Amino acid sequence: MPLLVMKFGGTSVADLARIENAATKVQSEVDRGHDVIVIVSAMSGKTNELVGWVESTSKLYDAREYDAVVSSGENVTAGLMALRLQEMGVPARSWAGWQVPINTTSAHSAARFVSIPRDNIDAKFAEGFKVAVVAGFQGVSAEGRVTTLGRGGSDTTAVAFAAAFDAVRCDIYTDVDGVYTTDPRITSKARKLDKIAYEEMLELASLGAKVLQTRSVELAMRYKVRLRVLSSFEETTETSGTLVCDEDEIMESKVVSGVAYSRDEAKMTLVRVEDRPGIAAAIFGPLADAGVNVDMIVQNISELDNPGDKRAYTDMTFSCPTNQVLRAQKAIEEARDKGAFAYGNLVVDTDVAKVSVVGIGMRSHAGVAAKMFSSLAAENVNIKVIATSEIKISVLIDRKYMELAVQALHDAFELEKA
Ligand code: ASP
Ligand code: MG
Repeated sequence: MPLLVMKFGGTSVADLARIENAATKVQSEVDRGHDVIVIVSAMSGKTNELVGWVESTSKLYDAREYDAVVSSGENVTAGLMALRLQEMGVPARSWAGWQVPINTTSAHSAARFVSIPRDNIDAKFAEGFKVAVVAGFQGVSAEGRVTTLGRGGSDTTAVAFAAAFDAVRCDIYTDVDGVYTTDPRITSKARKLDKIAYEEMLELASLGAKVLQTRSVELAMRYKVRLRVLSSFEETTETSGTLVCDEDEIMESKVVSGVAYSRDEAKMTLVRVEDRPGIAAAIFGPLADAGVNVDMIVQNISELDNPGDKRAYTDMTFSCPTNQVLRAQKAIEEARDKGAFAYGNLVVDTDVAKVSVVGIGMRSHAGVAAKMFSSLAAENVNIKVIATSEIKISVLIDRKYMELAVQALHDAFELEKA
């Protein structure tokens, strides 16, 4: 039997009626001749509620108990989904992570997969069961404790099962009907993509297009799992949703596939740091130790300060999430006080946003940067920092221009046209 993985997110199982709706979609796939592994999230809002309960009970909570509580939402939906399928006459059984077992590391609340042995579920399929409903987001450590994978982790569970069971595809049912060229709330010209390459999806996912957990895309790319993102509130057809796949499967791709943004960025500049070997390590080491997620880094060309002084100076700029600014500032000031480096001034700008254009076509086309910059110039948007990779160009701009910039770039690259 060809095996399909179907994942239903929180809004798709938000109440009993929606669980029934999702079960109907599972039944259709069984009728089409598939064995199905269903991965479920907790009902929407449930995980937040559970996290709140833990935090209200214990400030410095034991991470093992956090996972014990927070993983429970998925157990409820797994059982209800199996019951609903049974009511429909579909032989189904539910599985908690430890029953499979989904073996993970012991990093509670941020666990990673170690192995997913197939034997138990395969044996159930051999008995005539058609559906295995597995609780997403959870696993079991070598110590035998329940673990969780980090928020949004059910996507990653789904992809891991698709890889482990050689699934024909992994369908991610959610409340949007696919992956868009940009956020439809920012421009009504945003268009649903039929296909998108893993690399592009990875950039879009990590840039703030919240459809899929970034790790799930990484895993899909590594194991070449074909992923489809589609709505559970619409009728499913052959062409529903967006297929996330290998670039070889995409015949004709545009130079730019999408425009992504990230609203909560901050820019920090160390003005007049000494330019000498080891200075970047001296600055970014302490930031890494403090857990600051540094994104863009720009070092200016240096200048000799005055003719008598042999030392050169430079400005070092980096960006990080707004909510990590205080932590970053503390790390830098402490390192300075310990004598790791000196600087003239630390300038912090918390009113910036990042806008990026993404596309695998950039690898073989020149002129994308020029076009991006000139369309921002036409809107009088000042660019503060630029960073590029093989398939992405990102700029930091004033946050108040973010929507305008996204719209302008979407127009400039004609993303509304298929
Ligand atoms: N319920 C978990 C969360 O909200 C996992 C998931 O739904 O992917 O993060
Ligand atoms: Mg999710």
